[in-house]
Amino acid sequence: MTSNPDEKKQTDSAEATPARSNFIRDIIDEDNRTGKFDGRVQTRFPPEPNGYLHIGHAKSICLNFGLAADYNGKCNLRFDDTNPAKEEQEYIDAIIENVRWLGFEWGDKVFYASDYFEQLFQWAVQLIKAGKAYVDDLTADQIREYRGTLTQPGKESPHRSRSIDENMDLFERMRKGEFPDGSRVLRAKIDMASPNINLRDPVLYRILHAEHPRTRDKWCIYPMYDFAHGQSDSIEGITHSICTLEFEDHRPLYDWCLDQLGIYHPKQIEFARLNLNYTVLSKRKLIKLVQDKHVRGWDDPRMPTLAGVRRLGYTPEAIRNFCDLIGIAKSNSIAEIGMLQYCVRQDLNKRAQRVMGVLKPLRVVITNYPEDKVEEFDAVNNPEDPTMGTRKVPFSRVLYVEQEDFMENPPNKFYRLSPGREVRLRYAYFIKCVDVIKDEQGNVVELHCTYDPETRGGDAADGRKVKATLHWVSANHAQAAEVRLYDHLFDRANPNEEVEDGDFTAFINPNSLQVLESAWIEPSLAGAAAGSFYQFERLGYFCVDPDSKTDKLVFNRTVSLKDEWAKVQKNQPS
Ligand code: ATP
Ligand code: MG
Repeated sequence: MTSNPDEKKQTDSAEATPARSNFIRDIIDEDNRTGKFDGRVQTRFPPEPNGYLHIGHAKSICLNFGLAADYNGKCNLRFDDTNPAKEEQEYIDAIIENVRWLGFEWGDKVFYASDYFEQLFQWAVQLIKAGKAYVDDLTADQIREYRGTLTQPGKESPHRSRSIDENMDLFERMRKGEFPDGSRVLRAKIDMASPNINLRDPVLYRILHAEHPRTRDKWCIYPMYDFAHGQSDSIEGITHSICTLEFEDHRPLYDWCLDQLGIYHPKQIEFARLNLNYTVLSKRKLIKLVQDKHVRGWDDPRMPTLAGVRRLGYTPEAIRNFCDLIGIAKSNSIAEIGMLQYCVRQDLNKRAQRVMGVLKPLRVVITNYPEDKVEEFDAVNNPEDPTMGTRKVPFSRVLYVEQEDFMENPPNKFYRLSPGREVRLRYAYFIKCVDVIKDEQGNVVELHCTYDPETRGGDAADGRKVKATLHWVSANHAQAAEVRLYDHLFDRANPNEEVEDGDFTAFINPNSLQVLESAWIEPSLAGAAAGSFYQFERLGYFCVDPDSKTDKLVFNRTVSLKDEWAKVQKNQPS
């Protein structure tokens, strides 16, 4: 049997945990009570297709799609694709796939801000005609200079007082492609002295002779994100436009645009973005990790991207539970990656089949076991779930055990194998180490052991006990495997704060990947499909990597068994 996550029935998030209350739900409840949107709840998840989705986006996806589901509403997947210089079809495709993988649906229509380009252009014209927008010839540097600072008001552009006719003429010609990139922009005419810098005549349109993934070369002027976002929400009839805190200062601009245009007005609500320790969640930084080849790609299992954690073996259920557990807040904080791992363990513990695999093999010869005898033992697939049944595990004279499970001169409290010591082999027999074989350098290369036939199945007929139970595989039957062990990609808890504009890649952990090329896995895993997940007893949860070949499986360790986060929680004063 396999445990390919794709074949598992998705547990419904609403069914897994009842929706927690939060301040956004309070706002929606109040709007429903007063009938503000006629009881309608319509949200959207609006990614910019300029990179892959990460765990932070998952929080926004779970929130927006989750609210829509809970309130019998609708959530649009909308690409805010207004910057062709940075956007690619590859990203659009990956984002669609990742949102589906997380377990969310949006009907048959995917929305794109680029579908509204003509309407947005017409709205820009409407602003010009109302004397509320003008074409500016200042360079980008000059515009920045004229904008002023938090303590100093801005300065008006000399082109601010252009006539409506001249503005119309120039804007039309911008659209026709008569001017080079960066030579002119369309700006809103608001207030160069506003305490909110976003209101100091923000740029609405810029010239960009770049091919757009969807509109191709139809346009050479593109709306700025701030001119597209609020209006796109308005067009789609979004009721609650949920975004992260940094957009709080942009809200007055969105309000200004909607009011000037006299169109439907969604309610914007800001919440704290997710930050995670030991990682970076900025797209700019993630792109750098990929482009500079610090990782193998967007789906490198060390990346916090959804493609990455999927390859690592995280399940959609675990990620959704994590997003639920961290909740929705109004001020920024940093969540513990340990808490995410805790959610992964909790989910996999229920669903992953237990198997035996030896990562760093040490050969064991059972000297009193017949040369060509093979026995099969019944092994329990998951003690948490009896319906998962049992499987057969072959046993023979030559086995592998874990190097770490043997010590020639054991310290106190090391109860595993050592000379003269008896231990249990899981499901099989007690064995006793009688001889240690070394190579010329003195390294232990093989153990000779004896087994006690009276301990078949793992219990002694005379009731004697052993203090350790080891996992093992039969050398002749085992399947060869490569195992990739991961550690945090960064060597410190906050690789973001401490670098400012410096190079955050200086904090990359040089030991974030350890490859074990000669592991052995029990034969029941032969041919396991990429994405299948297992618990290797005593070692952690592992997931089959797409790099696997028929003669050599490749596993990623998803997470170890040790649950540091649960321990931390237990020790917290309550
Ligand atoms: P960019 O700098 O490219 O805009 P972004 O992270 O804001 O990066 P978007 O594609 O604009 O990326 O994000 C889509 C949606 O996901 C937005 O609504 C954004 O607020 C939300 N989002 C992005 N990062 C996080 C995060 N860390 N936590 C919660 N929500 C996030
Ligand atoms: Mg953004």
